[in-house]
Amino acid sequence: MADEIAKAQVAEPTEDTIFGKIARGDIPCKFIYEDEKCVAFNDMSPQAPTHFLVIPRKPIQMLEKADDAEEQLLGHLLLVARRVAKEQGLTNGYRLTINNGKDGGQSVYHLHIHVMGGRQMMWPPG
Ligand code: AMP
Repeated sequence: MADEIAKAQVAEPTEDTIFGKIARGDIPCKFIYEDEKCVAFNDMSPQAPTHFLVIPRKPIQMLEKADDAEEQLLGHLLLVARRVAKEQGLTNGYRLTINNGKDGGQSVYHLHIHVMGGRQMMWPPG
């Protein structure tokens, strides 16, 4: 079993997470994009030549917990993912992934969009 899946099997939602600390600036992190609503930074365990995460500053635990009032914010995260993918030179396509809960393989309970590119992505995913 892949390390990330093993982590996801035991991960539980918590009030604060490593991504919450990163978003607040409590833990230093080189942002490749930031605005008042979200930040983007490279994944520390990249699964593709380019692999970054887009996270809201607001600590939403997972997609499942986002309520209808979050509609604009969720759309914003997608547009930021697209913008940063372009800035990172992903001109030949890329993949967005949101892992939601245990079966989805989520290990950090702060909503995040994975953006991966720079190689041919396969389908179906594992
Ligand atoms: P997920 O399994 O969808 O919850 O994804 C969590 C992702 O966060 C994994 O791809 C990890 O490699 C990544 N990650 C965890 N901690 C950090 C960190 N401090 N900086 C960058 N990426 C991280």
